[in-house]
Amino acid sequence: VEAELMRAQRLESLSLLAAGLSHDLRNILQPLLIMPDLLKARTDDPQLHHLADIIAECGRRGHEMAESMLSFVRGSRNTSEHICLVHLFEGVELLLRSNLPAKVTLHLEVAEGLVVDANYTELQQVLLNLSLNGIQAMPDGGRLTLRAAAAADTQGEDWLQITVSDEGIGMDAQTLSNLFNPFFTTKATGTGLGLISCKRIVEGAHGTIQVDSTPGVGTRFEVLLPMQAVADAADTLDAPTIAGAGQ
Ligand code: ADP
Repeated sequence: VEAELMRAQRLESLSLLAAGLSHDLRNILQPLLIMPDLLKARTDDPQLHHLADIIAECGRRGHEMAESMLSFVRGSRNTSEHICLVHLFEGVELLLRSNLPAKVTLHLEVAEGLVVDANYTELQQVLLNLSLNGIQAMPDGGRLTLRAAAAADTQGEDWLQITVSDEGIGMDAQTLSNLFNPFFTTKATGTGLGLISCKRIVEGAHGTIQVDSTPGVGTRFEVLLPMQAVADAADTLDAPTIAGAGQ
């Protein structure tokens, strides 16, 4: 219990630090987002254009990092609503397909009528984070599968099960034991905040997240969320995302 408490306190101070940092960082980076275009407008020199593009790209990446730090810090303070899984998967598919590497194929399977209580944007973020990690783990291509189904645990409780599976590089024991630690990354341009924010969001919605991975074979993330009772969810089906907001 004490270790758990210390962990929570460390995470809390880290959150405060990250909130301050990301706020300042966004302000500092603002000129980097705008000025490269102003510079380019003043010269035809292709080499200067190239340099300006690199500066702009660094600005965008820094901005992205600040954004993901902020959404990590915000955690799960958002309101929850009834979410229709078919609708959620449609949105995720649209975003993923808009930028899918040619050698990666995408498969989505979702059972009709599944509903869960969570924040729509946050849950979408979880699926996108897990999917993008999966895609990045398959530099030579492969199949990314997202599945949503009902699942009962050993006590007969009903859960909504969402899995994201890839056929990528997989993870060794060292990576597996660190992957939910903030700032842990094996990527040159990673933030190491993707999975910890997935975990915070899922746990904020009273769920769990687990991973199963084999080096050279692939990785499967499983998210379990409390299943919404069918009667309670009936009014959700026509208006998938907005019915009954707040908690
Ligand atoms: P980031 O993607 O910025 O590195 P994450 O918290 O999302 O941060 O992931 C942490 C690390 O976990 C990654 O750097 C990678 O080593 C590992 N990882 C996450 N998802 C996968 C996956 N699907 N396949 C292989 N490794 C993964």
